[in-house]
Amino acid sequence: MKELTLKPGKERSLLLRHPWLYDTSIAETKGRLRAGETVVVRSARGEALAYAAYSPASKIRARVWTFDLHEPVDHAFFKRRVAAALQRRFRLPELSSQQGLRLIHGESDGLPGVIADRYDDTVVLQLNSAGAEKWREAIVAALIKESGCRRLYEKSDAETRALEGLEPVIAWRHGVACDEIVIEEHGVKLAIDIIGGHKTGFYLDQRENRRLVAEFSADRRVLNCFCYTGGFSLQALRGGARSVLSVDSSQPALARAQANGELNPGLPLERAQWRCANVFEELRRLVQAGASFDFIILDPPKFAPSAAHLSRALRAYRDINLLAFRLLAQGGFLMTFSCSGAVSVEAFQRMVAAAALESGREARIVRRLGAAADHPVALSFPEGEYLKGLLLEVA
Ligand code: SAH
Repeated sequence: MKELTLKPGKERSLLLRHPWLYDTSIAETKGRLRAGETVVVRSARGEALAYAAYSPASKIRARVWTFDLHEPVDHAFFKRRVAAALQRRFRLPELSSQQGLRLIHGESDGLPGVIADRYDDTVVLQLNSAGAEKWREAIVAALIKESGCRRLYEKSDAETRALEGLEPVIAWRHGVACDEIVIEEHGVKLAIDIIGGHKTGFYLDQRENRRLVAEFSADRRVLNCFCYTGGFSLQALRGGARSVLSVDSSQPALARAQANGELNPGLPLERAQWRCANVFEELRRLVQAGASFDFIILDPPKFAPSAAHLSRALRAYRDINLLAFRLLAQGGFLMTFSCSGAVSVEAFQRMVAAAALESGREARIVRRLGAAADHPVALSFPEGEYLKGLLLEVA
């Protein structure tokens, strides 16, 4: 097998079981290494430490498949890892009954670069690294077998693929093609647009927070910013909201949100308003108009794609949080999120605190929020914790 040798001391992160090796840690490689090829990783002293997938185009030059040198990286390896990930999901009682479920969460499931979400009987797969790309066939076969699903759609179109030197790949790998799948979550039906939607089609990571939205919405005037296909909005209606104003800048997302509403004739849809607007501008307009809400949800897109964007991103987060504080009635609630991995839990809380101070509002943390349990975070891979949120009560 081909080899990769680290610079002195650079084995430290591997000894902590972190799966990434940066280009700057590598002293030399032996042999001509192709994208995705499995290599033995050696310390500067020559000690073999792991098997990893080589990625010549990426700053993350290699991602570890296994630290067990007796475990060959072959078809059987992927079958075991996929089966283990699925078993973990079904060991958690609240997950086994979900129609929309993340089956594989990349590094935290021991499969760097592999994301697989199940919507009813369809698996949507994203391969995001050179190593995952190389083992496509094994991963697809294992997922079909272990999930028992009738269809598998590969939607490897994440922007991060470019960092790995990979082109987008989109194809049906199993079963008869379809374009949307209806799932039910906490009593609400949602049509998932697996072809044109974001990520694999839906934000499964917010599942537990959607339930919380229903619990906090009774008799409240709700404002849902960045509503996408209406997941939070419909839960607010289910929870008995007095009114729900949902804002998004994407007309197709709003059309999909309204169509999702129609799938649920039992909901009081007449209380919902859908507005196509830029949230930054709409919040300002609402403040100027003297509007007031009892519950505001802020779930923006990733403002900080990397650490280089951090300070600008924090200003943008602060801007919308500040405006939300201004719009909240006394005793109102703010549910605010960041899905930027580059924004730490601490930095996020500091930003929210600064926004509250600037708005002259006093607020208390009622809950700390994160991704649902089918998005586990391996302790050795803190980068896996990208979604963070706070539920605040505003005095
Ligand atoms: N809260 C959603 C997911 C949000 S995804 C859920 O739970 O499903 C982010 C959404 O923000 C996308 O729908 C995108 O269209 C929208 N968006 C991005 N920038 C925006 C802006 N400046 N104003 C309004 N919407 C925006």
